[in-house]
Amino acid sequence: MMYVALGSNIGERERYLFGALQEMEAAGLHVTKQSNVYETAPVGYIDQPSFYNMVVEVETSLGAEDALVRLQQVERGLGRERLFKNGPRTIDLDILLYNGEYIQSKHLTVPHPRMHERAFVLAPLAEIAPTLEVNGKTVRQLCDALPESERRDVVRLQSLTSLVGSV
Ligand code: AMP
Repeated sequence: MMYVALGSNIGERERYLFGALQEMEAAGLHVTKQSNVYETAPVGYIDQPSFYNMVVEVETSLGAEDALVRLQQVERGLGRERLFKNGPRTIDLDILLYNGEYIQSKHLTVPHPRMHERAFVLAPLAEIAPTLEVNGKTVRQLCDALPESERRDVVRLQSLTSLVGSV
């Protein structure tokens, strides 16, 4: 199973998230579970709009590198433009985990190196895979270990759950 984090902070953010889910399906990345959408404060460069984030579980026959290529095609298809690192973007797709594998290549580091410290990744991931283990700890444990100050910046959007619907 592969887990993918989605984020958007320009324009109609929920449309970019759900557009990405549809494009992923069309690209052979079958979404089998999806979290709710969370509104989260930007990390790093903070003078930019808040993000909408979600995490999905994906079943695919593609290898991790090919899956990344497809995800990057989806990003480009949705008009991703990024002026600088960590700056605003229409859609960002990251591979968090791939079949419990450790991958270190030119294009790919899995598990995603910063996922352990990011509330905007761990909160939605804990919703769909709380008992999944990453480096000997469950996602739930990693999420609970985050400082309150960071979890506070990640708010589940109840009103959008109906929009998530079936993919
Ligand atoms: P970003 O701008 O954060 O989306 O980073 C994109 C770059 O990160 C691409 O050049 C990818 O090859 C690289 N990358 C490394 N590991 C991953 C990963 N687990 N998921 C997505 N992109 C990755």
